[in-house]
Amino acid sequence: MRIAVIGGGIAGLATAAGIARAGAAVEVFERSSRGAAPGAGISLFPNSRAAMRTLGLLDGYDRRPHGPAPGTRTVMRRPNGKVALAFPAWARPKVRMFHRNDLREFLLDSCRGVPIHWDTAVALDDDGDTVRPAVLTTADGRQSAWDLVVAADGVRSATRGFLSLDPGLRYAGYTAWRGVTRGPADTGGMAGEDWGSRQRFGTVPLADGRVYWFAVASKQVGRTAAAEGLGSEKEAAEQEFASWYPAARALIAGTDAAEVLRHDLYDLARPLHVFHRGRVALAGDAAHAMTPDLGQGAGCGLEDAAALTSLLRGTAGPDADVGGLLERYSRRRAPKAARLLRASRLMGRLAQRERKAWRPGS
Ligand SMILES: Cc1cc2nc3c(=O)[nH]c(=O)nc-3n(C[C@H](O)[C@H](O)[C@H](O)COP(=O)(O)OP(=O)(O)OC[C@H]3O[C@@H](n4cnc5c(N)ncnc54)[C@H](O)[C@@H]3O)c2cc1C
Repeated sequence: MRIAVIGGGIAGLATAAGIARAGAAVEVFERSSRGAAPGAGISLFPNSRAAMRTLGLLDGYDRRPHGPAPGTRTVMRRPNGKVALAFPAWARPKVRMFHRNDLREFLLDSCRGVPIHWDTAVALDDDGDTVRPAVLTTADGRQSAWDLVVAADGVRSATRGFLSLDPGLRYAGYTAWRGVTRGPADTGGMAGEDWGSRQRFGTVPLADGRVYWFAVASKQVGRTAAAEGLGSEKEAAEQEFASWYPAARALIAGTDAAEVLRHDLYDLARPLHVFHRGRVALAGDAAHAMTPDLGQGAGCGLEDAAALTSLLRGTAGPDADVGGLLERYSRRRAPKAARLLRASRLMGRLAQRERKAWRPGS
């Protein structure tokens, strides 16, 4: 069976690595260049580890250095730094914290032998049926035919629209700044997410002592530092969190301005009930873009990759029933992803509430 994956993000690369191990001939098309993943971290929960096992990547995943260090306490602090909630320290923390580029390099290593076409945007031209293959076209008009296409083309997936499955996106009402400190930083042995009033701050220690932080604030959509007359998004984050506790401000201050990212947060307006049409499957954010409030977006994409891998194992021959396989994929994945999308939205609403008593300084 010949399989194309659109998108070389976490979901696309994991899918390619898994289904190559399941015996299919797979190629990846990525519109960006090889480069490096942006300077941010990512937390992966135990469901990601279970997915890695199904993908055949568990040994490498377990060997990969990650944060937090054993014994780190997970806490929730108030904006004044007072610990409001503390969880017992794990000898072996269940959540693994990576720099996004480390995770990407691991997935790229796992794709060794899989052709990855960088700088190659593709568009779906035909989703195929029981007799017709699916067809992709590159920007310069080259067409190729595939037994199966996995579209892992992200939150703004054009494929989702082509398949008439797009419910549109919903702005969540809040924006996130993210950064990784330029060198090791002291977190006092703590990690976690702090809630204020319509603001949150997260501290995520990485394997090499650097710290990934995120800072979330309720804002109108489309606001930028430049529009507010500020020199950089780092300055905007510093201004927004100016009255938070010193260790939070020190993490922002310890990050190079060019490395601070800002994104308004979106999810799918409604969860999808099916993830496929014809010979095309959606995976990752293309299928279930959710807000990051439960830290499950990438984990869910890894679960999609694992589901496709296990369905293809032993059935990746030229006569495979692709339609039946994708029916099973949708049934296996869509209900759980819908629950997580709704739960993330709910968590975001709760976390971003106005809490006068939790304003900085109170
Ligand atoms: C602030 C923030 C914090 C987050 N924190 C976490 C966390 O802690 N844990 C977690 O699990 N998740 C987290 N997430 C979610 C996670 O980042 C995403 O769910 C995940 O990265 C999505 O991966 P993906 O491969 O589906 O999509 P993407 O990473 O968006 O990859 C899609 C790829 O497709 C390519 N592409 C698009 N169109 C085409 C085309 N036509 N042709 C070729 N290539 C194309 C793009 O260039 C891109 O590389 C967070 C998200 C945000 C915004």
